[in-house]
Amino acid sequence: MTVAQEKLKEIELQLDKIFSNPKCELDYKSSYELLVAVILSAQCTDKRVNEVTKILFKEYDTPQKMLTLSQEELEDKIHSCGFYHNKAKHILQMSKDVLDRFGGEVPSDFQDLQSLAGVGRKTANVVIGEFFKGQAIAVDTHVLRVSNRLGLVKTNDPYKCEIALNNLFEKEIWSKLHLQLVLFGRYICKSKNPQCQICPLYNICQSDDKISKNNA
Ligand code: SF4
Repeated sequence: MTVAQEKLKEIELQLDKIFSNPKCELDYKSSYELLVAVILSAQCTDKRVNEVTKILFKEYDTPQKMLTLSQEELEDKIHSCGFYHNKAKHILQMSKDVLDRFGGEVPSDFQDLQSLAGVGRKTANVVIGEFFKGQAIAVDTHVLRVSNRLGLVKTNDPYKCEIALNNLFEKEIWSKLHLQLVLFGRYICKSKNPQCQICPLYNICQSDDKISKNNA
């Protein structure tokens, strides 16, 4: 599908206006902490993850320290993030991978990151864009939904969405755009209750989910 340049520019312009300095809402002090936080954030809010990691990272902020925990002990500490069994398993295995294969340092290369346990394409892109200041568009549920509603893509496949967005927008804005789309989806173009009446992209949105301002 083709998307008009004017539409792309308008999206960039409006997102720059409402989220001029977008920030990741996960709290972290190192690449390792960020990686753990992103793994915990699957199907969980950033707020809840921050509550959990605020306590967890006081004692377990490196792969070495994390590996002193048993699977059950870690499950107990991250329980409220949901999917705690798999998340604990992935965090421990990832920590072992980082120690055994990368000398204790989280790698900055995309393929290396993806080779770690529990680290998929989305997580690798978040870490590259957020910590290593590379350019990457991580497609989470917000980015996927918003991209479809705005008519930028027509797919439910995160990988296809990422490639399409990469082709539509200049590489130099990928990481900023990723954060803006996440925030736009989290606070305005919400899944169940999109705030269409205050949406700056109302006029260019042709989504079936759009709520007419007359009905708001
Ligand atoms: S008009 Fe509504 S559905 Fe369309 S992008 Fe804005 S908030 Fe989302």
